Amino acid sequence: MRRLPPLLKELHKPGRKGLAVPRGGFEVRPAAELLPTDLLRHEPLSLPEVPEVEVVRHFVNLSNLNYGVDTGFYPLGSCTMKYNPKINEEVSAWFSDLHPYLPAKYVQPLLELLYTLQQDLLEVTGMDAITLEPAAGAHGELTAMLMAKAYLKDKGLHHKDIVIVPDSAHGTNPASAAMAGFQVITVQSNEEGLVDIDKLKAVLNDRVAVLMLTNPNTLGKFERDIMEMAKMVHDLGGLLYYDGANLNGILGWVRPGDMGFDFVHLNLHKTFSTPHGGGGPGSGPVAVKKELEPYLPKPVIVKDGETYKLETDRPKSIGKVRSFYGNILVALKALAYIKALGGAGLREAGALAVLNANYMRVKTEEFLPTAYPGLCKHEYVATAEGLKRQFGVRTLDIAKRLLDKGFHAPTVYFPLIVHEALMIEPTETETKENLDAFVEALREIVEEAQTNAELVKSAPHVTPVRRLDDTKATKQLKVRW
Ligand SMILES: *Cc1c(COP(=O)(O)O)cnc(C)c1O
Repeated sequence: MRRLPPLLKELHKPGRKGLAVPRGGFEVRPAAELLPTDLLRHEPLSLPEVPEVEVVRHFVNLSNLNYGVDTGFYPLGSCTMKYNPKINEEVSAWFSDLHPYLPAKYVQPLLELLYTLQQDLLEVTGMDAITLEPAAGAHGELTAMLMAKAYLKDKGLHHKDIVIVPDSAHGTNPASAAMAGFQVITVQSNEEGLVDIDKLKAVLNDRVAVLMLTNPNTLGKFERDIMEMAKMVHDLGGLLYYDGANLNGILGWVRPGDMGFDFVHLNLHKTFSTPHGGGGPGSGPVAVKKELEPYLPKPVIVKDGETYKLETDRPKSIGKVRSFYGNILVALKALAYIKALGGAGLREAGALAVLNANYMRVKTEEFLPTAYPGLCKHEYVATAEGLKRQFGVRTLDIAKRLLDKGFHAPTVYFPLIVHEALMIEPTETETKENLDAFVEALREIVEEAQTNAELVKSAPHVTPVRRLDDTKATKQLKVRW
């Protein structure tokens, strides 16, 4: 007998008028016969009536006001806003109508794809085991810090309660460590924009649980002393964490696992394509070395012969960190991207991302200094400190003026250690023509700042809305006019 919700049960009571249940199924009766008359509507609902063509124009015009990777160059540093192949959307839609509570035996093809992605990500990172559960980069960091906690507790290392984070790190690093209950100590960068190894030594002691490193760091620099740092932390019984949110610059060239890291999080929505921004959607898998595997969130997707399973019998697991399998739409997009490019293609993407960033860096250095000069990886940070001092034109003004020239602004005022920062990441998917056009727009703006500062300070001039009060705009959203 099928189980029915109480209301339906009532309606389907045998003998109830109009609801005789023939062998073939239920008879469908008009609502008017089933519902009390005083609840029935007697006049048609008064809905606004607009011709379809007007509705279409309204929404198309609204969408034209948007700016995204599909409409133009989007050089947000530390965000990897690359082109997202449209086939990814199709692949991610394959499983969109599966019910998330379906038993594993009915979702074998999905589990196979997720398992394949896991294997590919392990190959790329040089690690031993992985979870796809965390919903974003910051969530991956928190997951990893909770795993570190569980690991240290298990080993009886209760005194280890400090996490060290360089001052160039993404703000989510200290936040995740603090949320997991660690005390956070910041270590300063040196004049090259790298972790100052002497300052690191000065704060290292037996209480250190984890060193969290972003590499390439948020200045776009590859940390030169990584092997030495890894040894120093390991000698003290600590763990090394790799913030791999932006892996673009090293993809296919070097692997965190080979550099001595114990765990790493990836941002699938950055390095492995997927449109993101405005708070989602994301996916922040965490890959670990063997000794941390028992603490991975559960269930873990495993392969048993030819069958894929969701393994839950993991007594040391930190438990579930997100519902169901994680954000599978983003995971499937990442897999489509990886399989479309292949190993050699990923390696080439990494090289092109670095080439493009360095090409732009050298070009913009003709008129705007780089904060920490020298070769960069996938991104670099320019500074408008001189323009501010000489002409009163700030980075914010430059960012607004870029909008007039048809470009999205780069990341501004981050990392915090650079005054008047413009953090530029072109990615591998842009043409030389686009890079040149952006550089020329920036060159024009710097010239304007020197000759007509007011023009830049009062920008933007041609956008649908002029300069917003940032603080007020986030508190009092103006979504219509
Ligand atoms: C984007 C980013 C994060 C955070 O990722 P979310 O998905 O936004 O939570 C962490 N670290 C670095 C270096 C990042 O660029």
